[in-house]
Amino acid sequence: MPCKLAAGNWKMNGLDADLDEVRALIAAHPSPDCGVLICPPATLLAPMANIARGSAILLGGQDCHSDANGAHTGDISAAMLADAGARHVILGHSERRADHAESSDLVAAKARAAHAAGLTAIICVGETEAERDAGTTLDVVLTQLRASLPGGATAANTVIAYEPVWAIGTGRTPTLEQIAEVHDALRANLPDPEMSLLYGGSVKPGNAAEIFALGNVDGALVGGASLKAVDFGGIIAAL
Ligand code: PGA
Repeated sequence: MPCKLAAGNWKMNGLDADLDEVRALIAAHPSPDCGVLICPPATLLAPMANIARGSAILLGGQDCHSDANGAHTGDISAAMLADAGARHVILGHSERRADHAESSDLVAAKARAAHAAGLTAIICVGETEAERDAGTTLDVVLTQLRASLPGGATAANTVIAYEPVWAIGTGRTPTLEQIAEVHDALRANLPDPEMSLLYGGSVKPGNAAEIFALGNVDGALVGGASLKAVDFGGIIAAL
């Protein structure tokens, strides 16, 4: 398996002053053992790239359009993200699926656009609480996985993030057995078994190490705890 990855998703958070958190993170973790990625809002990509240049920190976007360019007011293309310093892009996050009615087919189209621009797609899947209660978790995530993966997805251009919707921003996490069950099922259904599998949903410095210790967990996608250097640094230290 490749080196583990701690991926921060800043969501719709972050102003110029918050770039100090990235400066602090670089100062505290100048040479992390494994991968560190921050996906800031698009407005901060270029200034963050200036700060991260020469450091181990990778940058990513939080979404891209499925078209390479054109008349799509307010949207951002994969090439624009790459041009601003991104190497990755999060796609199909449950907040995009919910807020913007993104289907898995659209996520696959976006992933194709990301790959065409040379970006690694981080494709998110995850069940709602109602789906878990109904016992359909594995069906839901495997259906999302198959429909969201574009042809040509390999370990070199695609990462999968398992994020139970009910665990995002709630402070609630699945048991380690529940995480392992889903990750084992995902691993068995990947087109390329070497693809990295991230867990996301209320990952904190205090629970990161036990989650990273699971066999089929290759890192984390972190929301709230990625905003402050002290918290994200604690997760990086657990890699
Ligand atoms: P959280 O968010 O860490 O704040 O739960 C995770 C995510 O949505 O990627």
